[in-house]
Amino acid sequence: MADRIDGKAFAATVRKKVAENVARLKEAGVTPGLAVILVGEDPASEVYVRNKGKQTLEVGMNSFEHKLAADTPREELLALIEKLNKDPAVHGILCQFPVPDHLDEAEIIAAIAPEKDVDGLHVLNAGLLATGQKGLVSCTPLGCLMLLRDRLGNLSGLNAVVVGRSNLVGKPLAQLLLRDSCTVTIAHSRTRDIETVCKRADILVAAVGRAQMIDASWVKPGATVIDVGINRIAAPERGEGRMRLVGDVDYDSVAEVAGAITPVPGGVGPMTIACLLANTVTAACRVNGLEEPEGLTA
Ligand code: NDP
Repeated sequence: MADRIDGKAFAATVRKKVAENVARLKEAGVTPGLAVILVGEDPASEVYVRNKGKQTLEVGMNSFEHKLAADTPREELLALIEKLNKDPAVHGILCQFPVPDHLDEAEIIAAIAPEKDVDGLHVLNAGLLATGQKGLVSCTPLGCLMLLRDRLGNLSGLNAVVVGRSNLVGKPLAQLLLRDSCTVTIAHSRTRDIETVCKRADILVAAVGRAQMIDASWVKPGATVIDVGINRIAAPERGEGRMRLVGDVDYDSVAEVAGAITPVPGGVGPMTIACLLANTVTAACRVNGLEEPEGLTA
């Protein structure tokens, strides 16, 4: 039976390290600040933003929430980002996606100053990662990397298969694993014989968005499996109309063959916000010429 990788507990240790670094920065006269922009009233996004604000305050940082109406004009949003770019109290800026249809995510990402882009989505940060240079790395991939290093130590030479090629998760995670000297394969919806490809993996990451797609027959015995997916499925056993969260991995079946596996919920999810806080501290250190936190960057 596979070990369960406890992302919730690990995220708590990351937040503790962040809080220690925030205290150090405050002694140097800097209070890290994270600005989160939410456009519209998507209920899931509202929950994420509330959680982010709460955890930001808990580690001692300043939280600036900007809630804008769903019909906010493009120019108004870009003007707010420009104001936050120039505000020395703000070290990290994040716009919660998805945004309403009249707004363009790529344009929003491009408007954020790269040194405050704590989501790591700006092309400059993506390029720095791809060329092995220091930038800000997307939170979910950074969280996955931390869990893998904690579990496996040195990743050098391991076969890693990342299923999913999004700019948010799949691609940056593949880059990070390559940087740690894994032999990396990126699989996607057009990959042929994907089960066989996955079965070669010492490290198998699922970032697809399809409930329980990966079962035991895709997994090499002893592999470390990281499940990024968050899918809502019907849970009639909990009562009529009730839903529950599952990953892209069929946990019960894969746990029979894998060496270790992250659950959903309680695996990668909690690491994402912890890494957002870590990135904000890192950004605050860099802009103020202070020593960077240890163990909180890629
Ligand atoms: P995207 O929809 O942007 O990308 C999904 C990827 O999966 C695409 O590259 C797609 O391939 C691939 N894919 C789709 N169907 C298949 C298939 N049948 N076989 C193989 N590959 C397939 O999703 P994200 O990367 O943004 O997110 C992935 C999942 O992770 C989602 O469930 C999301 O909710 C979750 N997530 C969780 C986070 C967390 O904190 N835990 C944070 C961010 C995301 P192609 O490119 O060929 O279409």
